[in-house]
Amino acid sequence: MAKKTVAIAGAGIAGFAAAAALAQHDFEVRIYERSEEPREFGAGIYLKENSLAVLDALGVGGQLAESGVRLRAAMIHDETGKTIVRRTLDKERLLIALRSELHSVLRAAALAAGAELVTGREAASADPSGVLHMSDGEEVKADLVVAADGVNSRIRESLKLTRLFALLGDGATRVIIPREEEAYANEYWNGSLRVGVAPCSEDYTYAFIIGPERDRRATALPLDRAYWAEAFPAIASVFERVGDGDGVHHTHSIVICKELAAGNVAVIGDAAHAQPPNFGQGAGLAIDTSWEMAETLAGATDIAQGLQAWQDKVRRRVTTVQALTTAYDIAQYKCPKPLAPLRSRLFELLGSVPTTAHQWEFWWRGGVAAPQPAIPWTEVAG
Ligand SMILES: Cc1cc2nc3c(=O)[nH]c(=O)nc-3n(C[C@H](O)[C@H](O)[C@H](O)COP(=O)(O)OP(=O)(O)OC[C@H]3O[C@@H](n4cnc5c(N)ncnc54)[C@H](O)[C@@H]3O)c2cc1C
Repeated sequence: MAKKTVAIAGAGIAGFAAAAALAQHDFEVRIYERSEEPREFGAGIYLKENSLAVLDALGVGGQLAESGVRLRAAMIHDETGKTIVRRTLDKERLLIALRSELHSVLRAAALAAGAELVTGREAASADPSGVLHMSDGEEVKADLVVAADGVNSRIRESLKLTRLFALLGDGATRVIIPREEEAYANEYWNGSLRVGVAPCSEDYTYAFIIGPERDRRATALPLDRAYWAEAFPAIASVFERVGDGDGVHHTHSIVICKELAAGNVAVIGDAAHAQPPNFGQGAGLAIDTSWEMAETLAGATDIAQGLQAWQDKVRRRVTTVQALTTAYDIAQYKCPKPLAPLRSRLFELLGSVPTTAHQWEFWWRGGVAAPQPAIPWTEVAG
């Protein structure tokens, strides 16, 4: 029997994750990427148990574990210097990798499984019958079309699937700096400012530096080192390691879709569920739901029906993650200074009461159980 064909628009993390998963499930996959050479910028990326299980299944988990850093614990410290949350990570994996590394192992996995990458080709729209319309007028017919064309997805818009696309009031500057840190994730809060610091390879540490967009000094590039060092004197050495040419800044955004599929077209990744990046789940969900799509469609005779079944499976997790991470974001950048002690107290409680403390990652990944038995820290990292 002839293989079912797939046309994917976009060769980011989502596009390559879907291509690898579908090609490994015996689909004939072609990826159309508008740039001449798809690449990721210099920053780290947090990967949790849901995406790590899929990366293992795709055969790239070992490579990422080797080049990335598995963390021992994650801490949050407030403006008084108090550690308000401390979660040991011995039961669930939290790995930080370089984005470029994740992108390149997914690309290699997709191509090794037989997917074909066509660069310099831009998609303009899609038809639910299974047609990808390219900007140059070509029509690509496929059994399955996947829109992985990022937050500003033209395909999502062409299918009128957008319920909400909004910029939030804060944004992040991301940098990688020479590593001096041990294998811990630390997040520091001061009012509406936040900094996360964790090593992402043997040589590099990843830092995300978040503030309200209305605060010009907080969002400036080159990074306003003096401003940040004044707000977080305990980690002044982090900012000293940021060079003038380092860093990218993005305003946080959110995309909510009416549906994740229309006929034979599926929408994945930021095109489907862009979100403020507090739980390390933007790419994580894309990887997770791509695998679920491949597994669901592998046994389906009718692709459109299969996509509805896939949507039924993943919708709740997408909605839960988006709701929680957006609430977290707004609570951070809108928190008036006088309420900061109350916020600390709330997180202290959430991190110490067993019912919430042990459910932290469960909710952060959308209310689903860890997809595989957790591997104890001592067995994989020394
Ligand atoms: C500050 C910040 C920190 C984050 N941290 C994490 C984290 O720690 N963990 C995590 O899981 N997630 C994180 N995320 C989210 C994660 O980065 C994104 O969810 C993920 O990179 C989205 O990948 P994507 O492939 O959907 O989109 P993109 O990376 O935008 O890729 C889209 C691709 O499609 C191409 N394209 C666009 N339009 C077209 C077209 N019309 N035709 C053809 N090609 C097209 C683009 O060139 C690009 O290659 C973070 C996000 C931010 C903003």
